[in-house]
Amino acid sequence: MDNNLVEIYATTHYNKCNKHNDIYIRKNLPCPYPNCENGIKEDKFIDFEYKIQDKKVTKEIKHLYTRKKFKGIENDYKYIWLKEDDLFPSISNIIVNEVHVINKWNIIESIYHYTKLDNLYSILNSNELWLTEYTAQTDSIEIVLGFDLFSKYDKNDINISKKLFSKNLSFFLTCFSYESECRTLFNLYSDYSQGVSIEFDSNFNIDNNFWYSDDQLLQLMPVIYDDQIQRKIVDYCIYLFNVSEKWIDMSKDTFNNKNELITKYKRKEVIKIFFKNKMEELLSFFKHYSYKDEREVRWLYRKDDEFINEYYGECLNKRSDERTKKTYYTSTDIARKLSPSEEKINLKLPIKSITLGTNIQDKDKIICKIKDLLKNNCYENVEIKVSTLPY
Ligand SMILES: [Zn+2]
Repeated sequence: MDNNLVEIYATTHYNKCNKHNDIYIRKNLPCPYPNCENGIKEDKFIDFEYKIQDKKVTKEIKHLYTRKKFKGIENDYKYIWLKEDDLFPSISNIIVNEVHVINKWNIIESIYHYTKLDNLYSILNSNELWLTEYTAQTDSIEIVLGFDLFSKYDKNDINISKKLFSKNLSFFLTCFSYESECRTLFNLYSDYSQGVSIEFDSNFNIDNNFWYSDDQLLQLMPVIYDDQIQRKIVDYCIYLFNVSEKWIDMSKDTFNNKNELITKYKRKEVIKIFFKNKMEELLSFFKHYSYKDEREVRWLYRKDDEFINEYYGECLNKRSDERTKKTYYTSTDIARKLSPSEEKINLKLPIKSITLGTNIQDKDKIICKIKDLLKNNCYENVEIKVSTLPY
């Protein structure tokens, strides 16, 4: 490695830039935007990372970061520090962030789950949401829409397989809406307004592990109905895939921990696998515009055995997969799968309020029952409201 490079121990020295707060700027790195007061003038630097083994700090690894320029989904120029030996997390973060921008997801603070009264009671008692297998949902055919759209524009031979219908890949999801009081949804999912809409805090995401996971298998996002935007997202992802291949071509050689060269060809193959997974996930948020009134926000868990076995090892996969034959996962199953910490597994669902449908009989009695359940299950500050929708 070049000895004249600037060295930075980023963990203690830099904070996130408040001028350029794109989420893909890794916390604690200097700001990647040139001429920014929170950045550095050099286009490359080395970061230290300390490894703790057997309670001792044993190893110090250096990563090379290079400033890269690319286009955002709205054609504006953006910058990133690219960790050359570990390119995919950056690419994936860019994709997610740009899709959030075009989806206006960053400004939504609450999402609403419409359901029947009995389901509300079991959600409160169990502190769990159920994510049901996609194929068990009525609109499973919808997923084909995104896959077809992608293959139409795929000139890179990325060739996203429809392994959705194989045993190795399945999607589990639960549906919300960003509409707080919607007659259609009250009718469809809340027993003709005899049920409730439960408001959740969509910003609640302690240490990235409630709504989203670091490995990107868990994602919360509004469904995309507009076919222009669907096309734009597909185009953008393909653009970024091409950019990432160029970045690999321009990068220095990288080596594995046995000091063997990882060829650029091999690195491109790896990127392609990650990219395919990312696309499969994104496409499962595409839906036909005729459903647009539902304003759906989907909480989606991608259960991809092939991917998990290859990148995390079979034992991790087996550890948490007693439910292989089940058609649903609970939010606790998923938390357990993604984090071994008991504290996180026992997090209270981020419920902000509960709105009773107009047609609920005996509202006072039901409100008392809900209040008791909230209290007995240690939920705090949950407001109870009655829908103002005329029936
Ligand atoms: Zn900045």
